[in-house]
Amino acid sequence: MVCWDHAFVREQAASLGFDLEAALLARSEAAARPLLDRLLASGRSTEAPDTISAYLRCMLEAGLARAIPAPERDAFVSALAGALRSPEASDRLWSRVPDGLPDALDRLRTLGLRLVVVSNSDGSIERKLRDAGVADLFDAIIDSARVGAEKPDPAIFLHAVERSGRRADRTLHVGDLHSIDVVGARRAGLRAALVDPHGDWEAADCARFPDATTLARSILAAKEC
Ligand SMILES: [Mg+2]
Repeated sequence: MVCWDHAFVREQAASLGFDLEAALLARSEAAARPLLDRLLASGRSTEAPDTISAYLRCMLEAGLARAIPAPERDAFVSALAGALRSPEASDRLWSRVPDGLPDALDRLRTLGLRLVVVSNSDGSIERKLRDAGVADLFDAIIDSARVGAEKPDPAIFLHAVERSGRRADRTLHVGDLHSIDVVGARRAGLRAALVDPHGDWEAADCARFPDATTLARSILAAKEC
């Protein structure tokens, strides 16, 4: 619902002496997700302090290494992870609203669907969504730090379903990490899909959509049948 602001990451990297192309940064961030997912599947928390370093290493492996000479990669990871880890940086990092998302969500709400955010976060996701101007598009915003359970724990999904007032088996959870979003949602009895703009998750055993607008369109089309 809010994504990495790549322009901000680029600025931070530049201030540390690393010149990164915005397109390469964005592409490697998406391509790194299935790589990060392998680490998360073994039980690592998305909210662990070192997950940002692990993600940056996955981004290097996913193509970003092209922009950074080998001897500088360790320094790059530790400096950029350090710069992105503060609460102020996190607010800027998670601030980009994907094109077309507010309109797509609005159309889904018009159909009578209940929309709930389920986020592994640090208690700040509602503020981040409010700052991005999209909080009011949701019926509820669930933050793992406030619930005391994080994805893929079924407890957070069951809490979200309860807040939605709907049934788990009539609920679709859409996320961007298989072992967190798809595995967790299914454990709680929900259906699950991944947003996969570049086809990085071809091997995944679930529905995939390039973006929220396409997802909204396919739900709209199914409802009209
Ligand atoms: Mg996510």
